[in-house]
Amino acid sequence: MKTTLEQIRHEIANCRACPLSRNRTNTVPGVGNPQARIVLVGEGPGAREDQSGQPFTGLAGKLLDRMLLNAGIARNELFIINIVKCRPPGNATPQPDSIAACRPHLENQLETINPALIIAAGKPAAQWFLPDEPIAKITDHAGILRKTAEGRHLYPVIHPAAGRRSDAMKNLTERHLLFVPGLLAMLESNAEAA
Ligand code: URA
Repeated sequence: MKTTLEQIRHEIANCRACPLSRNRTNTVPGVGNPQARIVLVGEGPGAREDQSGQPFTGLAGKLLDRMLLNAGIARNELFIINIVKCRPPGNATPQPDSIAACRPHLENQLETINPALIIAAGKPAAQWFLPDEPIAKITDHAGILRKTAEGRHLYPVIHPAAGRRSDAMKNLTERHLLFVPGLLAMLESNAEAA
């Protein structure tokens, strides 16, 4: 029997598999439509997310909301998750040991939701799905539809937080997200025809 999202949430709430669990206020297991055809995967919770227990509720989240609106993607069409469920100190990039310790949680979530399309926001998320392909720059991969070794459809984009520092990055991410509804329609109709 498939694990439910509620069971996974419970496992995450009780997880002590890496040092990030020591300083968390809340775990941030993910939020959204359990039947979502699109899963958006970010990096890790920041201070706001640690307080709220929900992903993308801080400034990067506000920017993400605007970008999604602009692309005609409703938040309730998505499930939003991070590769690590507890806040790295000082909002640092999550360390490989924490990413590895958290891996089973994200694997379980993906197996349960089984999305048609995964948007990986930022380099650590894209690298999570492409472990055998060292990613130097996310800009070399953003906006290119890929298939992972597990056969999942992956669409890396630049992390929305980069758009807070650079208009060029913001514009590029906005442009890439505009393709998402069409990509999803194409993948769903290919799956129906198969
Ligand atoms: N950045 C992320 O990648 N995830 C969050 O939840 C917030 C900011």
